[in-house]
Amino acid sequence: MTTALDVLTDRVRVVQRPRSGAALEDLEDLVAGVDLDAPLGDTTAALREASRLYLEHAVWFHEPGYVAHLNCPVAVPALAADLLASAVNTSVDTWDQSTTATLMERRLVAWTAQRAGLGPAADGVFTSGGTQSNLQALLLAREEALAALPGGALPPGARLRVLATDQGHFSVAKGARLLGLGDGAVVTVGTDARHRMDPAALRAAVLRTRAAGDVVAAVVATAGTTDLGAVDPLAALADVCGELGVRLHVDAAYGCGLLVSRRRRHLLDGVERADSLTVDFHKSFFQPVASSALLVRDGAALRHATHHAAYLNPRGERVPNQVDRSLQTTRRFDALKLWLTLRTMGADAVGDAFDACIDLAAQVHEDLLADPDVEVHSAPVLSTVLFRYRPAGPGGRVPAATADLLVGAVRDRLFDEGEAVVARTVVGGRPWLKLTLLNPATTREDVRAVLALVREAGQDLLRGAVPHPAGPARAEREGVPA
Ligand SMILES: *Cc1c(COP(=O)(O)O)cnc(C)c1O
Repeated sequence: MTTALDVLTDRVRVVQRPRSGAALEDLEDLVAGVDLDAPLGDTTAALREASRLYLEHAVWFHEPGYVAHLNCPVAVPALAADLLASAVNTSVDTWDQSTTATLMERRLVAWTAQRAGLGPAADGVFTSGGTQSNLQALLLAREEALAALPGGALPPGARLRVLATDQGHFSVAKGARLLGLGDGAVVTVGTDARHRMDPAALRAAVLRTRAAGDVVAAVVATAGTTDLGAVDPLAALADVCGELGVRLHVDAAYGCGLLVSRRRRHLLDGVERADSLTVDFHKSFFQPVASSALLVRDGAALRHATHHAAYLNPRGERVPNQVDRSLQTTRRFDALKLWLTLRTMGADAVGDAFDACIDLAAQVHEDLLADPDVEVHSAPVLSTVLFRYRPAGPGGRVPAATADLLVGAVRDRLFDEGEAVVARTVVGGRPWLKLTLLNPATTREDVRAVLALVREAGQDLLRGAVPHPAGPARAEREGVPA
């Protein structure tokens, strides 16, 4: 274990960029070159080999040049907790495999539910991530919706529908598909100018769905959309859901850090009226993957995930068995990470760290607005910023189609070189570069350096000095002239 720590710290000390820049083919050769049937017979040698394969070419989220996805550098107490939990190898599915670990997880579920204001009957369970939390939320919604129907079943020809905006996470559609709700089960609700669910559009969509003979299982609002960080107007949506008798799920996989923000908690106003809530501690709480939870206002709803096995959690057992609440059986003690983080740093420090990321996004937005060679999508709400390189030339800005093409090409070139990793997405039918800022130690100067790399790559690509990495194939895929 000590050697592992040495190997890790030796590597971290020399890391200076988010990734090595090695090409896929070279890394394929490197990994394929290991003979798994010829053990090295020595942990130190195996660690050094793993370091050459893995650590040397890992993507490092703590590097300020990493500004791509919703990955965070990890709180060090959480890392220490992971060591303990893995060493003991606790499984929190039943009391007889976990004892205090179950009680600690349940304290954190209650703590989070209380931060959200979900009320005295709230309950929940840790999950592997937002995808699983959303799937379970939809499972509960499906079962609750069916139970509320006469005879507990849909009338002939009727279907269950889930309502979300076009900015909702894809795991909602995937969950609906896994639950057998059928193609088109997710009905798109209109948004306002800031890409937030429009309460009037929600009301109309519920009424339209019902008029067509279908049943609304749940509305999925998002508190922090993955691309734009948009926070749906939760209180106004809860009003509509309350009035029309529809279940409200809030996906706060990204925005959950606001629960502990001392300056922006109000952005989540209304979350206390959610029927269920997804929180990803491994995003805005700076926890190592995986650390996530599903919370519900009425703990009784979790019974839809319960199955009693004679050998594991027999009916009537009077001890807390978390498997009764979970889609998983054997499950890591991922709550220990959050526990140790709260006991070391405290919730305010976590919230301050997320606030620092949001403040940085506002500064980056200012810098981008002042740059005549970029287009900016919109003012950030949380910590993502969307922009594209579109420089002014003698005859005005380069054509939009060229700027479209540059997005993917710039992103690929940066990734290939390894100095910076940025993301790309499509919003409003156009490609954009995306910066996701989730490192509280990253400075405005750090991001300026990334923007300088974007400019340099864009200029080179426009000059044709660097061949378009994906050539006409990408152009065709993205429907723009090469
Ligand atoms: C990241 C994300 C998810 C999925 O969470 P995972 O932990 O990656 O499974 C769901 N919803 C939103 C809004 C997200 O940003």
